Amino acid sequence: AGKNEGKGQYRFFDPALSHTLNARARLKQRMLEAIERDQFMLYYQPRVDARSGELLSMEALVRWRHPELGIVPPGEFIPLAESTGLIARIGELVIDKACAQLATWREQGAELVPVSINVSPKQFLRGGVQQALSLALRRHRVPASLIEVEITESAMMGDHDDILAELAALRALGVKLHVDDFGTGYSSLSQLQRLKMDVLKVDRAFTTELGNSKEGKVFFQAIVSMAHALGMSVVAEGVETEEQLAILRGLDCNEVQGYYIARPVPAGEMLEMMQRRFLLKDAPLAV
Ligand code: C2E
Ligand code: MG
Ligand code: MG
Ligand code: MG
Repeated sequence: AGKNEGKGQYRFFDPALSHTLNARARLKQRMLEAIERDQFMLYYQPRVDARSGELLSMEALVRWRHPELGIVPPGEFIPLAESTGLIARIGELVIDKACAQLATWREQGAELVPVSINVSPKQFLRGGVQQALSLALRRHRVPASLIEVEITESAMMGDHDDILAELAALRALGVKLHVDDFGTGYSSLSQLQRLKMDVLKVDRAFTTELGNSKEGKVFFQAIVSMAHALGMSVVAEGVETEEQLAILRGLDCNEVQGYYIARPVPAGEMLEMMQRRFLLKDAPLAV
């Protein structure tokens, strides 16, 4: 390792190359260094009430602030973090940073809303999320009611006992559970209700489809009414246009998130939005 160090050596982000053992080992090393050098940081994206635009929560989205590449999005490194086992450490780091940030915002006098944390299926199935979370909550003196956990639909398939146990442990801690990217897996709403999931985040693909076809609307409408009947709240992910928002309001979808409302931003800008509180009142944030 190390013989090809230097500028322009970042081809290991190329997914084709990342299949080779060598490239994977190099990336793993880079990620370990990034952990030591504190190069991972969180951006935050608001989730708002579809009617009032009131800020309900903010999703923590990890970024790798790379000295040469700039801000690297999670799609570029989470899959490799998962396959190299480093996801456990990055996951713990994300949990700790989110709790630390809540404590900082509190010191800054903000009226806090919950932060929702993405947990990868690999990380979730390994277990230990509940322990990491309760440790971070205590360390930063943050109540569990200020944390939500997002788990993709695919992580919850199969009804395994350990999945049930992990979900129960999180619920016992007092955090709300969200199903992320709903509609991309094969779970049924009744299964999700049995798992006592609180919030359904409908995948961006379905929001995009809203303006394109009647079927898109019918499908979304069915999800909303079933989820509401089962006591779950529904979030539309990836709302990018005023038209989509209008349609979603018509379908009684109660929460929205997306570039139309606000892009993910660093903690400082999120504080401003926390103070503004109603994010749809004025024109949407400039991007
Ligand atoms: P996700 O949890 O479904 O997050 C939504 C993604 O869509 C985010 O991308 C967000 O920036 C993007 N997005 C939000 N609104 C819009 C919109 O209106 N239009 C479009 N085109 N995109 C929008 P991001 O930050 O690149 O994250 C991608 C995925 O990486 C996340 O999907 C999540 O699965 C994963 N991820 C992010 N942070 C973490 C983390 O801390 N831990 C783990 N395990 N996974 C994470
Ligand atoms: Mg998410
Ligand atoms: Mg999602
Ligand atoms: Mg996603």
